[in-house]
This record gives sequence, C-alpha cells and structure tokens, in this order.
Amino acid sequence: MFRLISLVIISVWSFGVVRSAAILEGRPYHDEPYYPTDLDGANSSKYRELSAGLKWSKSLLTYNIINYPAVVPREVIGSTIRQAFDAWSAVTNLDFMEDADAGRVDIQVSFEGMNHYRRGVPCQFSQEITLAHAFFPEAGDIHFNTKYFFTDDTSIEQFLNTAVHEIGHSLGLLHSSSRDSIMYGAQLNNFLSKPQPEDIQAIQAIYGVRSETRPTTPTPPTTRPTSKTPKPRTTTKLCSLQSFDTIVIDHRGDICVLADRFYYNLNETNPPARKLSAKWPKLPPKVDAAVTYRDQKTYFFKGQQYWKYDRRQLEERYPRPTAVGFPGVPPNLDAMLLVKGGGFLAFKDQQYWFYDTRKAKPVEWYYPKSTRSEFAGFPERLDAALVTPEGRRFIFSGLRYWEIDDNSNVIGREGNVRRDWFNC
Ligand SMILES: [Zn+2]
Ligand SMILES: [Zn+2]
Repeated sequence: MFRLISLVIISVWSFGVVRSAAILEGRPYHDEPYYPTDLDGANSSKYRELSAGLKWSKSLLTYNIINYPAVVPREVIGSTIRQAFDAWSAVTNLDFMEDADAGRVDIQVSFEGMNHYRRGVPCQFSQEITLAHAFFPEAGDIHFNTKYFFTDDTSIEQFLNTAVHEIGHSLGLLHSSSRDSIMYGAQLNNFLSKPQPEDIQAIQAIYGVRSETRPTTPTPPTTRPTSKTPKPRTTTKLCSLQSFDTIVIDHRGDICVLADRFYYNLNETNPPARKLSAKWPKLPPKVDAAVTYRDQKTYFFKGQQYWKYDRRQLEERYPRPTAVGFPGVPPNLDAMLLVKGGGFLAFKDQQYWFYDTRKAKPVEWYYPKSTRSEFAGFPERLDAALVTPEGRRFIFSGLRYWEIDDNSNVIGREGNVRRDWFNC
C-alpha cells in the first residue's frame, strides 16, 4: 500500500536557488520513504509507519502549532492552518480544535529542517526538495520544510495549498493521479485552497458526508460488549493437545506452540501451558499464523489483522489490517512459511501465495496457486509451518508433520508431532 504513496519524483531539478513560484511547479509535497528493514515495510522505531487505509477512530481531532517561522506573524500562520482544517471539516464529519497542550494533541503542526524530531523520535525529509510531509492516521503530525516556508518567495496561497494537502494525508488520503485533485503528489501553480470533488468523495468515503449538526463535545469512546461466559480455568497438558493454532520460534529461539489462549515452550522439559498474554501482551487467542522475521520481530496473523512484536512488546499502532501491511495476502490464513531469499509463503485452504518483500508488487498476479499441484503429497490443510534456525522447513496439519526440501519442494515422510516435537 505504501508504495502507492511514494512519489514519482521529478527528474532533475536545481534547487540551489529558488526565485519564483513558477519553479515550484512539480515539487513534491512529501515523499514517504520505504524502509525494507521489516517484513511489512514499516519501521516503527523511526515512526516511518505508513498506515494508509487506516482512519481516525474519533471525529474530533485536536491540533497544536508547535513552532512558527520568524518572518510571518503568528496570527497569519494560525488562521491559515485553521482555514485548511476548516476546508476539510466543511465537507466531512470531522471537527478540529486547537489545543494548547501540545504534547497531547492528535496533530502536531511544525516547521522543521531537513533532520528533525517527531515527538522525540528522529524524523527527516527524505529529500531536500520536499515541501512538507505528514503522518497517516492515527499519527497525523504535519511537518513543513523550513527551507521553503517562509522564504521571500513563498506565498500564503502556497502555504494554504500545502497545508490542505498534508491534512488530507493526516486524515488518511493517498495521492491522486489527477491534477484536479488537492491530493495530486506534486504542487501545481494553481494553488488549490480546498478539497476538490474527487477529494470530497474520497474523504466522505472514510468519514461520511458532513452531518447537519456538529457535535459540540467529543463523543465518548464506545466500549465493546464483553463476553459474559466465564473462560475455562483448566489448561490442557501439552501431551493431551488434540490440535493447536500455530508454531513459532520466538525472538530467543524458543519453539512455541500456540493453542487458544496458551502457549507451550518446546525448549522446556514438560512445558506447562502459559498464558499468551504473559509473553505477547494484547495478542488475541486462536491466532491463524505466526512468523519471526530475521530482524527478530514476530508477526501474528488472525482474521483480517496482524500483530507485530518487538520481543515481548506490541509495536505502536498494531494490530493493522493485513491488506495494508501485506497487500495481496488474503485474510484468515492457515500458516506462513518464510523463504530463503526474503518473503514468505502464505497458506490458506488448498492454496498458497508467495509474498516477495523485494518486489514493488509483492504478490504476482498468478497467485494463489494450488498447493497440491505444486507440492507433491501436500496435506489438505495446514495448521502451521516453521523454519528452524538451521533452515529446515516443516509444515504441520493436526498432529502430523512433514519436512519440505528447500530446493525441490518435495514433501518428506509424514511424522508424528506428539512423538517428535512434544516428546510425549
Ligand atoms: Zn502528499
Ligand atoms: Zn518529519
């Protein structure tokens, strides 16, 4: 998804001296860098996360202008930013409120140099020619490049245009290929000052048409109904397990079998059932699939979402939709298997998809393929798949398992999970 955002950068520009507004034509508002360090392309340790497709879960958003350029009166900046927020608020069900508590606002607006910080974490414009950049929901912060705001030749019209564009990103909009859209990826000379028909349609698809009455107070967050049925207190011994959800090697190299709300560490002798939440806080029961990538981050998939852990810590803003982090990979997976060159195989029913992290379009059009036609002797359905630290690849179905030859994709002899893995 994030690849949609990366800009087609205008070939070669000499930006040593910017003299007229005309030369600004075609300059990117922002570009979203793509760091392939993580399996899902997100690198949240640098706050580079791109959450396109996500939205704000509330309708009243607060903002604060953290700093001001010296050469323009503060009121001018304040009223222009206000005008930009109002332009969006006029067409969709969102309200924006300036809040003096800069640390707690939803959207921090600031003027920054090439290298700067966002809420204490290093942030930078990935190119000198970047006018501004913004974080997607629910991060939202907007940084204007001080190199361009405000020098002698930048106008309020240009600033307003940039602000409306960046707020569009803060609210979850991607770039448009249409030059008539405020979300066009580069600044044009006509300096649109508000969302255009296409943009209005896009924002209303996320937050709805502006309703007549505007809420005056923030709506309290709705609490989810909780299940009244008490959860069973008894745990199943490893050797009594009839089935399990998945197997994953954790960041320490321990092989963990996950079953419902519990996990068993196979590197212990007679491992007890331990609570999932004790090891991976906030991880739901009954996960579909899991994998630990080479950077030691562990990913769990369930339904339409995935959870990403840095050791035992759930990374910020997870879970995320699988469709956003791994475009082309279906929901409700059965198992995932890392492959040598990068990427993974995703299994579901009798089909599989190859997700190649090195490619701009990670899943080719000819997927899914049939497991049984590609792998001789493949079981009907998988529960789990695992690559050992030595690089051996295993697939699991119920209490049976098979090893796959890494080069030939030939499935080996069927083995007994209880005997060989559980040591029962
Ligand atoms: Zn943009
Ligand atoms: Zn920044």
